[in-house]
Amino acid sequence: MRLMDLTGKVALVTGGNGGIGLGMAQGLAEAGATIVLAGRDRAKADAALASLGAGARFIAADVTSKAACEAMVAQAVAAAGRLDILVINAGMSIRKPPEAFTEAEWRTVLDTNLSGAFFCAQAAHPALKLAGGGKIITIGSMMSLFGAPFAAAYGASKGGIVQLTRALAVAWAADNIQVNAVLPGWIDTDLTRDARAQVPGLNERVLARTPAGRWGRPDDLAGIAVFLAGPGSDFVTGTAIPVDGGYAISA
Ligand code: NDP
Repeated sequence: MRLMDLTGKVALVTGGNGGIGLGMAQGLAEAGATIVLAGRDRAKADAALASLGAGARFIAADVTSKAACEAMVAQAVAAAGRLDILVINAGMSIRKPPEAFTEAEWRTVLDTNLSGAFFCAQAAHPALKLAGGGKIITIGSMMSLFGAPFAAAYGASKGGIVQLTRALAVAWAADNIQVNAVLPGWIDTDLTRDARAQVPGLNERVLARTPAGRWGRPDDLAGIAVFLAGPGSDFVTGTAIPVDGGYAISA
């Protein structure tokens, strides 16, 4: 279907070597895009690449560094010839009460989830513009909407992602770049396996509040990625779309 066809497009997915990023990358690949994954862990990336077929590549990059984000985009364009789609997915959390955060812990979460997102978008802008336009997909969270006692830094970063998305959408609309946020509900990944271990009762609370009655899987994010990366969403920009099995609308 033309509206979902990504043939000839190149997608760069940060943190695409596992979890939600890989679920999205697999959807984009299935729709015809050439995939470039970026992250820090090459061993994880080797397994991820095997699931993406020929043509997929991995670039080692730490998104907390602006220079590393610029090098990552330059390498992606050099290897794949162009850039059309950027999925800003790399992220992490440190879970503890607000009063217990050290300065370094606060900065690590904000540097990765929010400053890293900005550096990636800024680095990709010239290449997307050169391609005649493009798509940026950012990843927020239910913590973009709700507060949690263990997520002061993470929630601040993910709230910031929604506003960053809106600012970029407005700034770059004239360049034909659409920028949208996806707000995943509770998805079963390495990140939330840690959360389940660290936050007592979390598993039960998630299952009780999610109308779908289950945790999400990384491949639950594939469809929204294809929609937001393809021509079907050319008039959709600056939105924040929950993909959460109904968690956000459940009392
Ligand atoms: P994972 O831990 O599986 O994935 C996170 C990815 O981010 C890893 O592949 C990791 O790669 C990469 N990453 C982390 N820090 C850096 C860094 N400094 N530089 C480059 N890459 C980095 O977790 P998820 O798949 O769950 O998380 C993906 C995104 O989805 C995150 O932004 C997260 O906040 C968000 N999210 C997740 C939810 C969930 O329920 N799972 C819910 C809502 C949002 P590497 O190990 O190679 O560094």
